[in-house]
Order: sequence, then structure tokens, then C-alpha cells
Amino acid sequence: MFTKRRTWTGLVAAVGLAVLATATSVPAGAQTGDQAAAPARGIYSVQADKAQRNAIEAGGVDVLGQRGGATEFVATPQQLDELRAAGIAPTQIGDLDKQLAERNSRNGGKAAAKADEFPAGDEAYHTYDEVNAELEKAATDHPDLAAVSSIGKSVEGRDLNMIKISDNAGTDEDEPEVLFNCNQHAREHLTTEMCMRVVSRLTDGYETDAKVKEMVDGKEIWVVPMVNPDGAMYDIEGGEYKMWRKNRDGEGTDLNRNWDYKWGCCDGSDTDPGGETYRGTAGFSAPETKALSDFVLSRNVNGAQQIKAHIDFHTYSELVLWPFGHTDETVTEDMTQEEYDRFETIGKEMAGTNDYTPMQSSGLYITDGDSNGWMWGSQKILSYTFEMYPGQGGVDGFYPPASVIEEQTSRNDAAVDILIQNAA
Ligand SMILES: [Zn+2]
Repeated sequence: MFTKRRTWTGLVAAVGLAVLATATSVPAGAQTGDQAAAPARGIYSVQADKAQRNAIEAGGVDVLGQRGGATEFVATPQQLDELRAAGIAPTQIGDLDKQLAERNSRNGGKAAAKADEFPAGDEAYHTYDEVNAELEKAATDHPDLAAVSSIGKSVEGRDLNMIKISDNAGTDEDEPEVLFNCNQHAREHLTTEMCMRVVSRLTDGYETDAKVKEMVDGKEIWVVPMVNPDGAMYDIEGGEYKMWRKNRDGEGTDLNRNWDYKWGCCDGSDTDPGGETYRGTAGFSAPETKALSDFVLSRNVNGAQQIKAHIDFHTYSELVLWPFGHTDETVTEDMTQEEYDRFETIGKEMAGTNDYTPMQSSGLYITDGDSNGWMWGSQKILSYTFEMYPGQGGVDGFYPPASVIEEQTSRNDAAVDILIQNAA
């Protein structure tokens, strides 16, 4: 999911209150993953309309999702005080540390069998090393169809690996290109499985599935399964989930607020390094977004961007989202009515296959510096965000059991095919 923070001036304006307050910050140590030093975080729910959702997220809280008409979020005591002072009265429905402890003990609380492994029972999820091994295996098994490369390095020096899938993968052919990326947000591990599903289906399925063969023959398909490997591996360190979202640069940058299109324009991200939607010091200040965007820019050949379509996979809420997120307007700078209609038509077509809810990104609340905005606003790439399974779920929503991987990734096969076929 995406969360955001506004200044309290913006919040007060949004909820129509007359009292103004100065911007407040999360206390040092909060939301840094240093659980010992962080104040206890509660889980809250409140009935909220759109303006109130914008306002709630303005407090720097970690919005989990919408349940019915209710917004659920994680907040520190200070954030809660601020919301209440602003006239919003959420009800506490849980305690984050308790829910995480419960989730982490679900399979008997056993430590993972080996270092850097997912918690016991969830070993079917791919670690960073396992992703890389499987990409290499795909390229070894299908040398004509798949080629692995690195687009750069993470904050902690991990290679950001990518696989190209096409007939004659070693040759840059004049074919429309498609990009899939996953795991910008660390804790959204199911998305990594989604990218690995795309890889296995398009390589292993090539010989037997005529539709796959047609797509692979006619397109060049790039897949980056882990954009935020440092964060993902930190989130499972010691065999316990930590609800970590951002990268691992200091207190962390929210990679999906760090893209350099309308970066920080519209109160759709956080200026506080401790906030869950901290946008970073500048557009593409994070090496991970810089690497992925530089790769996309490298596909601009003789003034023509070769990548025509893109999905950025996230969890959770079961949504198909299209740009823009920074404005509620449909037709605006860099988006004509005709262009918007195309986004909506294809978005709804994809949502018709996976039973997600289709909408413009800003339909939930305002975000800025997200990947879809840059992909379309800067490169005219037909770019969607999928928020995957589950539809709702609080803390557990980020950590579905490994038993759902097959069903919840194959659920998007038809939508992925529609996206590829619309890359032209
Ligand atoms: Zn996300």
C-alpha cells in the first residue's frame, strides 16, 4: 500500500478546521525498525471519506488499507494525539507488536532453518539469493530466451538483477518492450513471487503454450523481481517479519515516492526521514530508483522509448491503478482525455480478469513521486500499479502464507497477457 504525510497546515485545510498548527515530526527512533527504541504502535480504524483519508495519511501514519468504509492504519501515540487534536477519532483495533509477534509465532515460532530465510512455514517465498539463482537457472535452461544482467546496486551494494525474455534474448531486436518490476516496498514479498511467476511462465511455457510463444517472439520483456532487496532481506532478518517498507538508507526512503516526476509536488509524500512515505532528498536520490529509471532511459533509442507498457506490483488491496496519483484531475498536464480513456479501458479490461478494483491512483488518496507518474509523465509508458492479494487484512495482509502464492500470482496471468499485448 501507499501511505503519505502532509504538513499539518495541509491536514487542517483538508478537514476544514480553523485551528492551524505547525508541522510536527515523528520522534527520533520511531519507525526506524529499532523496535526497542520506538514507541508502541497501535492499529486503528476510522470511518473516513476521501478528504479525511487524505488528512489521516497526512499524519505520517502507516495506512494499511480500507475495510468497508473504514481506513486502517498504524500510528504511534504521538501521531494518534495529533489526529485526535485535529478532530479525528479513530478506534484502536489492535497492537502492532502483538500482531507481528502473533504472525511470527504462527508456525510454532521456530527459527528459520538457515540464515536469511523467511520465517518457518514461509520458506517457499524467494530470498534475494534464491531469486538470483532462479534467474540464472532460467537463463541457463533457456539460453535463447533469457538473459540476466544487473541494472545497478542497492544502498547496501546488492546487485539489482533483471532478466530479459524474448526470442533471441541476446540481440536487441526492433520489438515493442514491456517492463515488470516488483518489491519496491520491502514487506510486499508476494510481489517478488509475481515477478518470478512471469519469468517461469514465459520461459518454461514457451515450448508448450502458443500464446506465450507469440508474446515472447513478438516482444522484449524485462523483469526486475526485487527493486528493494536490502529492505526485503531486512524485513525477514532473524526469521521474523518487521513491517519494513522503505529502502535501507538511513531511516529509509520510500522508493515509490522518490521518482522524479512531480516529485514532492502535491503533499503526496513525507519530508520527514522517519515517516513511512519519506520521499528522499531529491527525485532519484535512492540508488534503486535511479538504477531502474536509468535502465528505462537507456531504452530510449534514437529518441523513441522502446518500453511501451509497465506494471509495478505492490500489495495489498486488490486494485488496478493508473496515473496520475498527484492530482484528482483525469485530464491534466501530460494526460489528454484520449490517453486517460486508454488507461481506463485497458485497466478495466485487466481488472475484469483478476477481479481487482480498477481506478485512477489518486482515487484512494494523493501520492507524488510514484513510478506510474514518471513512467507515463516522462516516458509515455502505459504504466499501471497492481495492488495484489489480499483485499484487506491489517498487518497480516503483507504476510499471506506461502500456500497462496500459486493461486494469487496465477490470478494475474491473463492481466499480464493483456498488458503485454497492448505494448505497441
Ligand atoms: Zn507498495
